[in-house]
Amino acid sequence: MNGLMMQQPLLISALLRHAERHHGEREIVSRRVEGDIHRYTYRDLAARARRMARAMEALGVASGDRVATLAWNGYRHMELYYAVSGSGAVLHTLNPRLHPDQLAWIVGDAQDGVLCFDSTFLPLVEAVAARLPSVRHFVLMSDRAHMPAETGIPGLLCYEDLCDGHGDDYAWPEFDENRASSLCYTSGTTGNPKGVLYSHRSTVLHTMAGALPDVLDMSARETVLPVVPMFHVNAWGIPYMACMVGAKLVFPGPALDGKSLYELFEAEGVTLTAGVPTVWQALLAHVEANDLHFSTMRRTVIGGAACPPAMLDAFQEHHGVEVLHAWGMTELSPIGTACSLKPELAALGGKQRLAIQSKQGRVPFGVDMKIVDADGGELPWDGKTSGELLVRGHWVLAKYLRGPDPCIDGWFPTGDVSTIDAYGYMQITDRAKDVIKSGGEWIGSIDLENIAMAHPKVAMAACIGVPHPKWDERPLLVIVPKPGEEPGRDEMLAHFEGKVARWWIPDDVVLVDAIPLGATGKMQKNRLREQFRQHLMPNA
Ligand code: ADP
Repeated sequence: MNGLMMQQPLLISALLRHAERHHGEREIVSRRVEGDIHRYTYRDLAARARRMARAMEALGVASGDRVATLAWNGYRHMELYYAVSGSGAVLHTLNPRLHPDQLAWIVGDAQDGVLCFDSTFLPLVEAVAARLPSVRHFVLMSDRAHMPAETGIPGLLCYEDLCDGHGDDYAWPEFDENRASSLCYTSGTTGNPKGVLYSHRSTVLHTMAGALPDVLDMSARETVLPVVPMFHVNAWGIPYMACMVGAKLVFPGPALDGKSLYELFEAEGVTLTAGVPTVWQALLAHVEANDLHFSTMRRTVIGGAACPPAMLDAFQEHHGVEVLHAWGMTELSPIGTACSLKPELAALGGKQRLAIQSKQGRVPFGVDMKIVDADGGELPWDGKTSGELLVRGHWVLAKYLRGPDPCIDGWFPTGDVSTIDAYGYMQITDRAKDVIKSGGEWIGSIDLENIAMAHPKVAMAACIGVPHPKWDERPLLVIVPKPGEEPGRDEMLAHFEGKVARWWIPDDVVLVDAIPLGATGKMQKNRLREQFRQHLMPNA
């Protein structure tokens, strides 16, 4: 017999309706591009999102059409999240740090019809506008007073004019929950960017799971500042989760340096934040150099790249801020695992606890994972055996926007290499492409980087495999020293003694001023590999 429960489609607009009705007074605070602070409530957000939904309709945006954004974390971006997806169109968040050629390619691939952007990106949009034939309307996310007197973009529209020009008497439409809601391209660290199209259903299920206590632990009691950009996999889902639970939201705009972030954390009483390790490095450096402390921060979510144990230790031991290490991918909306401790592990102290917290963690309900060998055979969960990580679940990609189905028997191959321990905690040892293969054996570059990062003279470290005449490949350690420091080769290599097998110890150490970072703040090891290709070869 069929169930007799209501059938309500899981729609993104329902999250906003809930926030308006049940958390209408809760604040959303944004640092604007102009530098000032803007504040309003979820009630205001909902009304303006409805106005913008009408405005989009008036611009000819139909169901399924793509509306792109090039914008920082802020209230207008949040309005578009709901206005566009809620009305049945598809929100395409573009990463402004991409090369203009790549940006033009992605807009064409997605066939974006409208492009909304912050004034910071006006020069960028002016430079590429002629190469965006699909875009019928350009919208500057600003008010009339901040519109440029002259611009190379014909018919440039003003966001606030659009918002003022329409009433908020708009009823969010109901449609099939499997309809596309938003689009994000992979950051292309490992090849050409590929479009990942989320659905309303996948997004709402991801929101419900992501807010759980063992995942991001979001609630109405929190004040959340997502440092992770809204163009980087929907700021890890925080803009949706915040509506669902009614958390106060704080948006940092373009000011992502340590000083600006710290000031906003303190001024707004931020309790929960999230971002990639490179951002936290700058924040910690600022806090430590100025002898500051966090008075309200309770927890920080670190993901997108491996969180070095030294960073975990600094947050937890020196600043009393708990770290939640998490792993995800654009293809996973993005949450795959989060490292919250089961009770038997929470009781551990010191180094043992730190070792567990350095893992990428365990899956929430809704995602399943396994590790396999080269033939696809499942490997044991012993915390030692590593293999390719495969996942499946309600918010895992089945197919890219264009292109083949990457899945194998219903499992998505992540391209990450990992172990899983008996408690179900997954630990990434490498990306398949970054793995160092010495004499046929794998060396985990992330382990070596974590050890290097714990050295007091090291600010940032990358370990790459470079060609070697005898061993095919050997590890080379590339480091950015802390200001005023110049660690020597022997000193650095001695630091590895006893911490890893002897044959894992890098062959050499090079000091550089900076390690190239990609559009989402990750180290571009492919560029380093290219640069140091000859480093260990004779006659180089
Ligand atoms: P791209 O793969 O193009 O960089 P994503 O932003 O989707 O785009 O990145 C996903 C990848 O980032 C994962 O496959 C993994 O290699 C890496 N990653 C994400 N989180 C972590 C983490 N906590 N530790 C190690 N690697 C991570």
